[in-house]
Amino acid sequence: MRMFQVCTCGEPLQLNETPTPKPQGSEVLLKMIAAGVCHSDLHLSDGYFDLGGGKKLSVIERGMKLPVTLGHENVGEVVAIGPDARGVKIGDRRLVDPWMGCGECTVCRRGDEQLCTKPSSLGVFRQGGYSTHLMVPHSRYLFDIGSIPPERAAPLACSGVTTYSALKKVGPTLTTDPVVIIGAGGLGLMCLALHKAMGGHSAVVVDIDPAKRDAAKQAGAATVIDGAAPDAAKQIIAATKGGAWAVIDLVGSASTAKLGIDSLIKAGKLIIVGLYGGEITLSLPPFPMRAMTIQGSYTGSLTETAELIELVQRTGLPPVPVATRPLDDVNAVLSELRAGKVIGRVVLTPAN
Ligand SMILES: [Zn+2]
Ligand SMILES: [Zn+2]
Repeated sequence: MRMFQVCTCGEPLQLNETPTPKPQGSEVLLKMIAAGVCHSDLHLSDGYFDLGGGKKLSVIERGMKLPVTLGHENVGEVVAIGPDARGVKIGDRRLVDPWMGCGECTVCRRGDEQLCTKPSSLGVFRQGGYSTHLMVPHSRYLFDIGSIPPERAAPLACSGVTTYSALKKVGPTLTTDPVVIIGAGGLGLMCLALHKAMGGHSAVVVDIDPAKRDAAKQAGAATVIDGAAPDAAKQIIAATKGGAWAVIDLVGSASTAKLGIDSLIKAGKLIIVGLYGGEITLSLPPFPMRAMTIQGSYTGSLTETAELIELVQRTGLPPVPVATRPLDDVNAVLSELRAGKVIGRVVLTPAN
């Protein structure tokens, strides 16, 4: 098998080759068909997330071991099955849920493997899908994509389930009041589409890039706002008729989090999803006085992935632009993503 790996943090991915492994126990081997390129792969290849104030969160210290194959939005075809694997057969096309935990603790047994304190996420802590083949430890991570094309299904594993889980955290106001979505990149357009599929309306999308605001408008945003405008919070409060019940911050920078907080109505909620990085200082009295909630949301559960696939099959595919590229273009694609040149999603196609 051939795979592109982080061998040294901060350097381009390196092409390596190794004999294709045979699945043991409950393992399932897939031949890769589609691998979505995610913005967090930039942080993973750099080796850290920016915590702000000069502080960094090292992914090596958190347990990422080099060399590692990135790629956590994967669809593949089952080509070999371990002796104890159940529920799959050769030739099945499956989406892989990458947010794996230890599988044994109470959190994992509850179904929230993405919140396990010993994460073993695919493409981070175990070998991912920028590769010709992908080994999955258990068939519970595999989901039937039915008639969804592989390159459209792949992003559901990360940008899809991440935004779906964030939208579920909005609660009852999801279908009654406008949701504010900060960031109109791949994640933002996915969020906008799922918001509509879940019965939401009048979404307000905020981005500093006019091209991305246009893309959001075309994708059905009721209002688009320039996040860099000095009166951006005022504009959001006007567009939501008094302040937002829910702001989903898909960027996660100091300025977007601050904008989100400034735009909330009393008892409103800021849901932080993006991992851009930074830090903010908060006055405490407004928390009780404005009955404000700030909540984080990280990927989603296996159940949410199943719900999401069902939702997409029932309501249609999110109209997020998807471009396909050969696996060998991975370093060029990552550079384009870093330069902010990607609208929607790029999916690598290792089988071609
Ligand atoms: Zn991702
Ligand atoms: Zn666990």
